[in-house]
Amino acid sequence: MAEIQRQVGFVIDLNKCMGCWTCAMSCKIFWTNDKGMDHMWWMKVNTMPGRGYPKDWEKMGGGYDGSGKLVLGKKPTMEDLGGVMQFNYEETFYGGRGSQVHLAPKKKPTWGPNWDEDIGAGEYPNTYFFYLPRHCNHCGKPGCAEACPFEAITKRPEDGVVLIDETKCAQCHDPMCRAGCPYKEIFINDFVYAAQKCNACLPRIEQGLAPACVRQCPGRCIWMDFLDNEEGTVHKLVTQWKVALPLHPEFNTRPNMYYVPPLAPPRLDENGNIDESQPRIPMEYLRSLFGDGVDQAVDTLKQEFAKRRKVPKEPSELMDLLIARQWKELLGPFTKDPTEVEAISEAPELTSEA
Ligand code: SF4
Repeated sequence: MAEIQRQVGFVIDLNKCMGCWTCAMSCKIFWTNDKGMDHMWWMKVNTMPGRGYPKDWEKMGGGYDGSGKLVLGKKPTMEDLGGVMQFNYEETFYGGRGSQVHLAPKKKPTWGPNWDEDIGAGEYPNTYFFYLPRHCNHCGKPGCAEACPFEAITKRPEDGVVLIDETKCAQCHDPMCRAGCPYKEIFINDFVYAAQKCNACLPRIEQGLAPACVRQCPGRCIWMDFLDNEEGTVHKLVTQWKVALPLHPEFNTRPNMYYVPPLAPPRLDENGNIDESQPRIPMEYLRSLFGDGVDQAVDTLKQEFAKRRKVPKEPSELMDLLIARQWKELLGPFTKDPTEVEAISEAPELTSEA
């Protein structure tokens, strides 16, 4: 694999994500709105704790073991993804029975991209949940690439984006990339016989325009930048403040998507009084997602929050970074307006030289 000169990274603040799915819908409309892609959600927002999309993806395996050896896990089935929902459009809109039938899937669905939305965990009144947006992590050590026997998956040297060369991929009838990726971020398009996944909106970022999910987020909760830009918020949150952490670091693929862990309101005791003795979201659960660094990250967030709640308020660079008063602060060097770039109609031709 070619040596990487720079790496783009994403930070998502889980305290700001409100589960609106705007990021996912903008990606869906932009990238997976074509033949063979109905079941694909390159970007999705799952409720946690939950089984997610694909169903139970966290238990499917993949990535690398402690010695750096590739582990091949399960490949998600169409059932794990929820399949393709066909709706009764003809009957409802054109069959003359519009007053008797409702628009509905023809076959009862059993799973979907946000099937367990807002279910969460815990005992009332101390229930909890939070939203976890996910797309390909553009990993530093992508298990998908090592698993591919045709070397169809590469990292671009200039930005570390992980791309699939569909012309090479089409030779494969048993895509092992899906077994190698522990995040289960690769989908099969049976129409073009190729594996497909998030490409970090490459045609946009090549023109200085942020990816659709980053740009469209109404909660201003997704940042994107080069990780080595020391003046950038992504670098500061990941490296300086250490409050943005990779998801499941034990998969050992060095993911480049980082998350500011969720805080929650304090627990209540049986009399309805605030009980600060333990957090509402169990730390063991957060450690299982973000590793041991989450304890320090949560402490730092709480300390900085406390500064801003004091009377009079104390300054906090971290809180100012997370608030992102100017939305362009989220975009690193990718601040161009969509009206200023050339029309983006399809992905650029991919080569195997990257
Ligand atoms: Fe490959 Fe999966 Fe990492 Fe994306 S998240 S680069 S598909 S291993």
